[in-house]
Amino acid sequence: MNSLHLKSFTRCKRKAWLDFKGKKSYEVWSPHKAIDKINQFQIFSEFCNGEIYTGLKACENGYQGVIGFKIKGNLFQNINAEIRPQLLVKTKGQSKWGQYKYLPAVYKLGHKTTKEHLFDLAFCSMLLESFQESKIEKGLVISTFDKKVKVEEIYLNKKLRKKVLNVLLNLNECLEGPIPAITQDRKKCTICSWQKFCDEEAKEKGYLTDIDGIGSKTASLLITNGISDTQKLASYSEKKLGEKLSIFKDQKYEKASIFVKQAQAYISGEPYFISKKNNSEDLLEKIYSGFYIFDIESNPDEKHDFLYGFLNVNNFSIKKEDLIYKPILNFKNNKGGSYRQIIELLFSQKEWPVLHYGETEKISIINIAKELNFSFEEIDSLSSRFIDLHTLIRKSWILPLKNYGLKTVSNWLGFEWMQKNVSGSKALYWWKQYQITENQIFLKKIIQYNKDDCFATLQIAEYLIKNRLKKN
Ligand code: SF4
Repeated sequence: MNSLHLKSFTRCKRKAWLDFKGKKSYEVWSPHKAIDKINQFQIFSEFCNGEIYTGLKACENGYQGVIGFKIKGNLFQNINAEIRPQLLVKTKGQSKWGQYKYLPAVYKLGHKTTKEHLFDLAFCSMLLESFQESKIEKGLVISTFDKKVKVEEIYLNKKLRKKVLNVLLNLNECLEGPIPAITQDRKKCTICSWQKFCDEEAKEKGYLTDIDGIGSKTASLLITNGISDTQKLASYSEKKLGEKLSIFKDQKYEKASIFVKQAQAYISGEPYFISKKNNSEDLLEKIYSGFYIFDIESNPDEKHDFLYGFLNVNNFSIKKEDLIYKPILNFKNNKGGSYRQIIELLFSQKEWPVLHYGETEKISIINIAKELNFSFEEIDSLSSRFIDLHTLIRKSWILPLKNYGLKTVSNWLGFEWMQKNVSGSKALYWWKQYQITENQIFLKKIIQYNKDDCFATLQIAEYLIKNRLKKN
């Protein structure tokens, strides 16, 4: 076992097992991991003033920062272990290399120092101590805050070391045993490289957490009440279920009805029309004389939107290839320029509504308007032009899907992205690559991806319009 398995184990036992024994062909490349690596290197490099080198030789030479280095050792009861410290930082002391020693350091995204960071540091220190022949009292957690490098010192006391030893024993037992069950908290799965593999099994076994709106708490409540899988849920009486869902208070019957219908749709593959008031009829009226489709690409950690994409749709009958798509890139040093372009474009067709999927697009434009000192009335009128198709589709339909994300819904409608295995995170990965290499190919990929996102949104709008009169 190694430090990567320990990291996975603190998130999901099954992930640690799959990383160790799973068939690699079932694993999907994760842009999150790659983005993490890039961020990590940049911040470590800044922390060590650029003096970062790789491997054992770098330790012997006494460089300030050392990466890319593995140490094998024996933990206890003949358990072989391997550490892969994210970074070793030179400090005062005495080691086998001379008048200095190294401390382990980890990178942290966000504010919270978690078990994952503490365990990694403690595990690394255990093998590093005997390797460098010097005691390690503390480790470092390195992050950025307000564009400055922040360092937190973690004392690696006996209590923490003991705890980690216990976790390592459990990890060892897990890796030797059968594959653990899928985690109850499926939110963890969204950025996991084994998601596709686990999703297939969850669907086959009828996991309740596959039903949109059912999290780990609701799933265990249902299981305690004898509703153990999606099949049972689909055939359950809505009224009886409502009586059992008192945690949802006044909404219990409404929730019960949605859960049962969602399970029925999921199993049958058939969508269910729920709209009481005809939302889609309103949509048709609003977009009749033309509209924009709008989609942004963002770096949520830096709260930076790096691309705004607009598709001009004069009417539905225009051929897709003839529609005009306008990408506006937003470089940090020229925000004003991009903001002006966006506002000019939006006001060149003042009456046109702006269709988007999810809430971030509207928030982003309102923030721009505020930054440009728009009056309250102007912001209000601009904001009233935005129509969120994600909200609209959820109000009108129960779809036979696990979630209502843009990719899931438009894939179900038959839409295909030009580039394979793409996602918002992959676009962010390309953006990071562009910043490092300045290679235009990455910008082209991002723009193609965003253009496809706009067309996917258009396909959902068409579905809502086409099926607006449908009755069950
Ligand atoms: S997809 Fe979910 S259950 Fe499967 S390994 Fe990853 S986090 Fe665990």
